[in-house]
This record gives sequence, C-alpha cells and structure tokens, in this order.
Amino acid sequence: MPLLGVLGWPVAHSRSPAMQNAALAELGLGDWHYQRLPVPPELFGETVRALGAAGFAGANVTIPHKRAALALADEASDAARQIGAANTLSFGEGGAIAAENTDAPGLLQALGRPVAGIRAQVLGAGGSARAAVWALLDAGAAEVLVWNRTSERAERLGAELGAKPVKRPQSADLLVNCTSVGLGLERSSAEGADLNQLGLSGDQIGEYSHVADLVYRSRSTPLLAAASAHGARTTDGLEILVAQGALSLGLWTGREPPLAVMRAAAGDDAAG
Ligand code: NAP
Repeated sequence: MPLLGVLGWPVAHSRSPAMQNAALAELGLGDWHYQRLPVPPELFGETVRALGAAGFAGANVTIPHKRAALALADEASDAARQIGAANTLSFGEGGAIAAENTDAPGLLQALGRPVAGIRAQVLGAGGSARAAVWALLDAGAAEVLVWNRTSERAERLGAELGAKPVKRPQSADLLVNCTSVGLGLERSSAEGADLNQLGLSGDQIGEYSHVADLVYRSRSTPLLAAASAHGARTTDGLEILVAQGALSLGLWTGREPPLAVMRAAAGDDAAG
C-alpha cells in the first residue's frame, strides 16, 4: 500500500488529507493512503530520511519545513532551488529524495490568466511569498512589488529574486496576499482590521482588478470580500491549495488529478 502524507508542525488544520484521499479514491487508487505527518523541526531530517523505507512514495511539506525539505533532498528542480523551498518530496528506489515546488505553478494555474507584462503587488515575505514572486517573474510579469510588515525581509526577498520592495502596497493589476492575515486567528479579524494589517485601506482595494488570497478558510476572507465588493476578479486560497495539491498528486501517481473532486473535498468543512 503506497503511502503519502503532509509534513508540518502543526498540521492538524490541513485539508490536504481529505482532498488527496478523495482524489485517490476517484482515481481507483484505493490502496494508496495520504495522512498527516506532524513532525517537529528537530525530528524533520531523520523522519524524512526514514519515510521511503517505511513505504512512502511522497509527501507534501508545509510550515515550517519547506526550506529544510529542499536542503535535505538529493535532487531538486530548478524552480525549488531558485525559490529556496520545496513543498513536494518524492522518495525513489534506494531512498533518493527528490524535491519540487508546486506552490509556484499552482498559483499561476489558479489565477487562470496570463501574467506576462502585468504589474503585481505581493504582500508578505515568507515561504509562499517567495514562490509567488518567483512564479510571477518566471511567467513574464513586467514588475513585481513586494510589501511586508517587517520591511527588511521584503528587501532581502526583493534582492534575491528580482522584485521591488515597497514601503506600502502600490496600485497594480494583481494583488496577491501571501501573509497569514485573514486566517481569523487574530483577536480581531474584522475586515477593516485585516486590511489595516496589510497596509491597505478599503478604498485602495478598488485599485486592483484581480485579487488573490493564499489564506484558505470556509468563508471568504476579509480581503476577498472587499475585493468582490469593488467588482474585482478574485482567486481564493482553496483554489490555490487544490492546484498545488493536484500537481503534487500528478507527480507521485502519473495520473490526471480529478480537480472537481479535490475542490469539493478541500472545501468541505468536515474535512478539517
Ligand atoms: P510564513 O513563511 O510564516 O510567512 C508569514 C507572512 O505573514 C510573513 O510575511 C509575515 O510578516 C506575515 N504576517 C504574519 N502575521 C502578520 C500580521 N499580523 N500582519 C502583517 N503581516 C503578517 O508563511 P507562508 O508559508 O508564507 O504562508 C502564509 C499564508 O499562506 C498562510 O496563511 C498559509 O496557510 C497560506 N498558504 C496557502 C497556500 C495554499 O495553497 N492556499 C500555500 C502556502 C501557504 P513578517 O515577516 O513581518 O512576520
């Protein structure tokens, strides 16, 4: 029985197991199983090196392990290397570990539009912001601006990947939120408070014709609610989750992922 999983700390909130197990069942791969793998940072290396021998064909990687996953892999794609993080590991014969980053192409797929020549404003400077900036530039965006609460991190990311750090969010064709603001974990997750934390005012949202939010939860995020109210096109975090997960599943199984089934399972509250 081939095993798959998601490595994270914490990982209890992940919707990937529900989404991937629904996909495996739909593909007739009922003998495969995808599970949560809660692993603290200090045990990450030894755990991952043991997964191949324990019957795992692959694993997704989430907070806080994406950089460590790239570092311990025996081989890595150019995208993963340039982004500096991996969210997908594959375990080959003899225990070789291959690293890939499907967050970057997943975002582009979920956006569902060409980005060549556009100006994009990315919010955040963590792991997912790195993948977003790299993906947009690689796909031909004319300019990618990066804003972050801690400005030094935006400056470092900009210098490494070729984006322009900005002191406050600027108008652009596309806005991509790669911070965790909007998860609803903050004491106040009211729309105005969330937008404030992102350096945005309600009116300013009208300056973006397309807004994407990597944060996923069952109801719309305050950012996407404000964007919709201004008539902007929106892309939600579930769509992005499905796209990156489908690319990972395709790598492991060589099969065409059933997107509609994955979308339904990921959006199902009961999926946790
Ligand atoms: P990360 O590396 O921990 O980065 C977190 C980012 O959020 C940093 O830029 C941080 O700014 C910012 N931030 C956190 N709290 C903030 C606040 N109160 N006000 C302003 N900025 C704040 O995390 P990540 O891996 O990039 O993930 C970011 C979000 O994207 C998470 O919610 C994650 O679940 C989501 N995500 C979704 C998908 C998907 O498939 N939909 C994929 C990946 C990630 P500082 O540098 O100032 O701390």
